Amino acid sequence: MSQAIVQQKSRGFISVNAHPEGCRKNVERQFEIVRKAAERGRAGEKAEGPQSVLVVGASTGYGLASRIAAAAGFGASTLGVFLERIPERGRTGSAGHYNTVAFHEMTRREGVYAGSLNGDAYSDEVKRKTFEILRRRMAPVELVVYSLASPKRTDPRTGITASSALKPIGRAYSSRTIELDSEQVTEVTVGPASGEEVASTIAVMGGDDWKRWMEGLLEEKLLAPGARTLAYSYIGPELTWPIYRDGTIGQAKKDLEETAQRLDELLQAKAGGHAWVAVNKAIVTQASAAIPVVPLYMSILRKVMAAKGIEEGAIEQMGRLFFEHLAAGRAPGLDDARRIRMDDLEMRPEVQKEVMEIWPKVRTENLADLTDFAGYKREFRNLFGFEVSGIDYAQPVEIELQLPEA
Ligand code: NAD
Repeated sequence: MSQAIVQQKSRGFISVNAHPEGCRKNVERQFEIVRKAAERGRAGEKAEGPQSVLVVGASTGYGLASRIAAAAGFGASTLGVFLERIPERGRTGSAGHYNTVAFHEMTRREGVYAGSLNGDAYSDEVKRKTFEILRRRMAPVELVVYSLASPKRTDPRTGITASSALKPIGRAYSSRTIELDSEQVTEVTVGPASGEEVASTIAVMGGDDWKRWMEGLLEEKLLAPGARTLAYSYIGPELTWPIYRDGTIGQAKKDLEETAQRLDELLQAKAGGHAWVAVNKAIVTQASAAIPVVPLYMSILRKVMAAKGIEEGAIEQMGRLFFEHLAAGRAPGLDDARRIRMDDLEMRPEVQKEVMEIWPKVRTENLADLTDFAGYKREFRNLFGFEVSGIDYAQPVEIELQLPEA
């Protein structure tokens, strides 16, 4: 055990440490939001839904919110797979580690099973370990959420490590952006990706690994009849398409969507099940901050959506996704391309119109007035457990918190 006063340490915009109590507060808040949503729906009763849920990429962002929606909303047993830094030699663990410690505490209190596995989800070894835990503790699995966001992937069949790129395709793209370290609004130009960068990004963030997970689960007979699986995508406004939807990451997302179609056919044939992609709203995560243009877009979006009372984070959306689309007796609402659209509020024409009116006017000098960059920064620090209200950062806290064996 090791107590320490944990003050934020940053490298540029990114925090290199995390605050255990701040992370705990964040997770407790998410449980509370789901509980309230459940109460509104069912007069205090837990809603009925999948009872056995595997989440790949379960420790932060949309994966963590999905895990909380399943456990707090449906009382589901969950197995979470993720890649996080554990605390050692006086250094804090990563936020995802502490989030998961808090998730275990919350579910233990409620008598709901949680198992966690920290390791490279792309590897065969972690898949094998996951299948073994599922067989012992949770099978058959009713829902698989695939929510990985990673800069690289080593393909276990070839040993080759691919890195993802965030670049346009065909020609350079110039746009204004917030230079996060200096907080200046600048013009950024990103050169076009090479063919190899496109292929590598598809290898990392496309559907191949999701398919390998689902084929493995089918082969090991770990899926329940009617089992379903979901992966997450983003579309966003046209302004970001050259770097997002039509760029390298967009190609990976198209591959993910095509994989959903193929997996749907496979699951229908083998388990009477389904596979879908849910298109989610832009939210503040480590992954999204790395995309040029996105922090500026999101700072404007937050302001516009908050003024209309429709701003949502990961947990509000995952609450809606689980209660409205995945609960027992519900069929997911799908668009023409068979996708669940959780980005419906972000993409409302009146929201996008206002964002586009503000966009060309933003300069460094009026950034604070025209956008909610302050809120964006606060939320980014919150991801690491810092600037969370109700936490006294002058107090020492236990940092060597460990996860139980799954
Ligand atoms: P995130 O960075 O918050 O979470 C990524 C998760 O993947 C973490 O649990 C992390 O531990 C895990 N992970 C990364 N590499 C791993 C590895 N090798 N092995 C095991 N686990 C690993 O990301 P996020 O923003 O929540 O993104 C999740 C999904 O949602 C992605 O598909 C992303 O494209 C999609 N999405 C994100 C946004 C957004 O605005 N953030 C919007 C729409 C869709």
